[in-house]
Amino acid sequence: MEIKLDIQPIKSWLPKIDNPLLIAGPCSLETEEQTLSTARLLVNDHRVQIFRGGVWKPRTRPGCFEGIGKIGLEWLKEVKKETGLMVGTEVANAKHTELALKAGLDVLWIGARSTASPFTVQEIANVVKGTNVTVMVKNPVNPDIQLWIGALERINRAGIKNLIAIHRGFTPFCETKYRNYPNWKTYIELRRLIPNLPVICDPSHISGKREYLYEISQKAFDMGMDGLMIESHCNPDVALSDKAQQLIPSDLTKLLDRLVIREKKTNNKQFENQLEMLRNRIDAIDNELLETLSARFAITKQIGEYKKIHNVVALQMDRWKELMESRTNLADKMKLDKTLVKSLFQLIHEDSVRMQTEILDKE
Ligand code: PEP
Ligand code: MN
Repeated sequence: MEIKLDIQPIKSWLPKIDNPLLIAGPCSLETEEQTLSTARLLVNDHRVQIFRGGVWKPRTRPGCFEGIGKIGLEWLKEVKKETGLMVGTEVANAKHTELALKAGLDVLWIGARSTASPFTVQEIANVVKGTNVTVMVKNPVNPDIQLWIGALERINRAGIKNLIAIHRGFTPFCETKYRNYPNWKTYIELRRLIPNLPVICDPSHISGKREYLYEISQKAFDMGMDGLMIESHCNPDVALSDKAQQLIPSDLTKLLDRLVIREKKTNNKQFENQLEMLRNRIDAIDNELLETLSARFAITKQIGEYKKIHNVVALQMDRWKELMESRTNLADKMKLDKTLVKSLFQLIHEDSVRMQTEILDKE
């Protein structure tokens, strides 16, 4: 079921926006010089609309640079005055929020660690109530869509209509290429549940490394995201946080030049007709798939009854291994993705065993 949130489209509070939304700036503000130098370079690229800079940094382990603190807000004010860019920072408690509002920041965001804490989000919601500040909510570190939605709802119920979700990836549970794995299906589900919510991507925290920024950013646009928040620093080699993932502003421009921005929709009638025809074919194939699956499960049940008569266990490991091997080999020959086919048969097999154990245990 769709969730109704009272949200304003980005264009209503950022009229100059020429899709997509682009937010750039250093992970952390370190000095006034670093802040202003970065902003002066970034403003040269007219695609950048908002300057970001962390002032209070939620570090996973103590002892790392924890942010410059409220003096950074003065530097952000300076950036706004000098460049005309909108400015934003991360807030993680009521005090941060009060100070950031007092400094006149345009955008506040709730970091991934804070989104996971409803008390923290509520504390921030209580402070932003009655203002027209823009609030962006990063996904929580764990792929719990309800926590993410809950945080968005708390801010929206405080009357904030300029609301954006940021997909920054999730803590990986094993070694992965990316710092935070981009569980795209959580993003798709968020889109399905709240269709009017703008969602942007933070490729920096997903990638963890500069070299993956392009592929993640392009993927974000291919998936219809509304913009990007990318970390950019005038001299990343000496950055006090996230140095491996920050780009110098001229490299950000190069990256933006390479990205293909696709239309969400088109008015091209011929394209629409062709798409419609192909979708009809997909619908027919899906029907066949489901009929085949239903026929397969009917036989699974028959086998279950047969096993019951002969008092034989539901789970037959030899058969399972042989089945998996033959199906994945066949998938490979048919140029299908082996991992996909493996997961598919794992699900089917799991359900077959469940069905058969139910039959075995039936009085
Ligand atoms: C950040 O944007 O600098 C940050 C700390 O991000 P996250 O909350 O996604 O870890
Ligand atoms: Mn960072």
